Amino acid sequence: MLKCNLFLGGLLLTVISCQPNERFFKDALCIENITTIDAKNGLLENQTVIIKDGKIHKVSSSKELRLSQKNKVIDGSGKYLVPGLWDTHIHFSYMEELAPSMFDLFLAYGITGVRDTGGQITYVKKFKELSLANPTTTPRVMIAGPLLDGTPNVYDGSPGRPNLSAGLGSLEAVTNEVNILDSLGVDFLKAYEMLTPQQFMKITQLAQEKGLKVTGHVPLSMDVISASNAGLNSMEHLRNLELSCASNAKELLENRKKLLALGKNDAGGILRSRIHSTQRMPAIKNYDEDKAQEVLDVLAKNNTWQIPTLALYRSVRLKENFKYLPDSIRKAWEQGLENIQLRAPAPDRANYADWMSKMIGKIHQNKIEIMAGTDTPIGYLTPGLSLHEELSQLVQSGLSPLEAIKTATLNPAIYFELDSELGWIGESTWADLIVLDKNPLENISNTKEIHAVIKQGNYMNRDALDQMLKTISEN
Ligand SMILES: [Zn+2]
Repeated sequence: MLKCNLFLGGLLLTVISCQPNERFFKDALCIENITTIDAKNGLLENQTVIIKDGKIHKVSSSKELRLSQKNKVIDGSGKYLVPGLWDTHIHFSYMEELAPSMFDLFLAYGITGVRDTGGQITYVKKFKELSLANPTTTPRVMIAGPLLDGTPNVYDGSPGRPNLSAGLGSLEAVTNEVNILDSLGVDFLKAYEMLTPQQFMKITQLAQEKGLKVTGHVPLSMDVISASNAGLNSMEHLRNLELSCASNAKELLENRKKLLALGKNDAGGILRSRIHSTQRMPAIKNYDEDKAQEVLDVLAKNNTWQIPTLALYRSVRLKENFKYLPDSIRKAWEQGLENIQLRAPAPDRANYADWMSKMIGKIHQNKIEIMAGTDTPIGYLTPGLSLHEELSQLVQSGLSPLEAIKTATLNPAIYFELDSELGWIGESTWADLIVLDKNPLENISNTKEIHAVIKQGNYMNRDALDQMLKTISEN
C-alpha cells in the first residue's frame, strides 16, 4: 500500500493515495469475492484466491487486493470455495470393469484424493502411478496393497469375495509381506479379521519401524482395547467394536476363539460370516455404557481414528445414483438393487446401522477423530457421489457440517502428514478445491452443488464435469 500523508492534500486526496496498487499475477487464476470455508479458518467472506503453478499463491480479502484487468479473473460472488474432498475408503480392484472410470467419477463429484484400503499391490500401484504422472486430471491416490489377513483369508478370490488379500500363515509370512509392500512404496497397511494376535502385533511393530500407519478391522481373535494398545492407528467400519462394548465382552472373545479354531478348515468368508451372525446382534443387545466408555477412553488416549463408512450401512440406494455409471454396470446395479428390494427387509441390519450412528455421535463427543470413507464400489455405492452421502450421515450422527467437511479434507491430510500443504485454504497449499453454488454449512447436501472442481490448479467448470460424466455413461 502507498504511504498516506493525512496532513497534506485533504481527505479526498488521502483516500486516493491510500488505494492499493493494482496487482498482476502472471500465469495465475484469480477467484475474486468468493466465500472460503475450511476446517482451519471456518467461513470467510469476500476472499480473493490466487492460484498459480498448482498451488494457492495468495489468499486475501478482496477489499485489500485490487486486481489488474490483465489478470485471468473468475467472479466468485455468491459461490463457496472448499478444499477438495477425500474418500478415505475405496477399492479400485473390487470391480475391475468399473476401475477405469473411477478417476473421472471421483473428480466430477469433487473427490480430489482417495485412499485405497485393499487390493493386490501390482493392480492398485498402477492407479497410484497414473495419478502421480497426471496430477491435474486425477485424484491423489494412497494405497495399502492387499488386506493383510491370516488363514483362512476372507477375500480369497471365491465368488463374491474378490482376491483382495494376502492370506498369511505364519509370523515369517507377515514379515515377508510387510517388507515387500514397504519396498514397493505403500502408504499405509491394512490389517484384517483373521489374523492371530501375534501376527497382528508383528504388523504394528514392523509398521512402527517403517513409519507406516496401520488401519484395519479388529481381528476376531482380539478385542478393540488390545488392538488399539498394540498400535492400530485407525479402524474401518467400527468393525467388531460392538463385540468389545458388550457386558459379556470377555465371554464373547472366548467363544470367538473356539469358533475360529473349529472353522479353521472352512473358507474365510464363510467362517467370518458365521462368527458375525453368531455374535454381532447379541453383542448389541448386551451393549454396556460403562464398558463402551472404557473402550472409547482407550481409543481417545491412543488416538485411534475411525472411518465408519456409515453410508455403506445406512444410505438408501437409488437408481438415479447410477445414472453416470458405464452402461453395462448401471444395468447390472439396477438389477442387483431390485433383487435386494425383493428380499425381506432385515431388521438386524437396520438396528446395527442405527447403533453405528449412535456410536459415531459418542466417538465424536469423546474427541476421537473421524475420516469420511465409503467402501465404494462395494454395496452399490457410486464412486464420488457416495462420499456426499457419507457426509450427510456424519451430520445425522451429530457432527456439524464444518466438522463433517473436516473428516474429508483436513483429517485425511493430517493422517498422511500432508497438512502443511493440503486439506485447507491457505498460501502454498495445493490447489485441490471445489467451487460450490450453495453454502454447505447451511445444509451439508450442498457439497453436491458443484460449480467447478480444481485439481492441482486445473479448473474444471460445470460443462467440463458434465462432459466427463457423459463420456463415462456412454462407455
Ligand atoms: Zn473396504
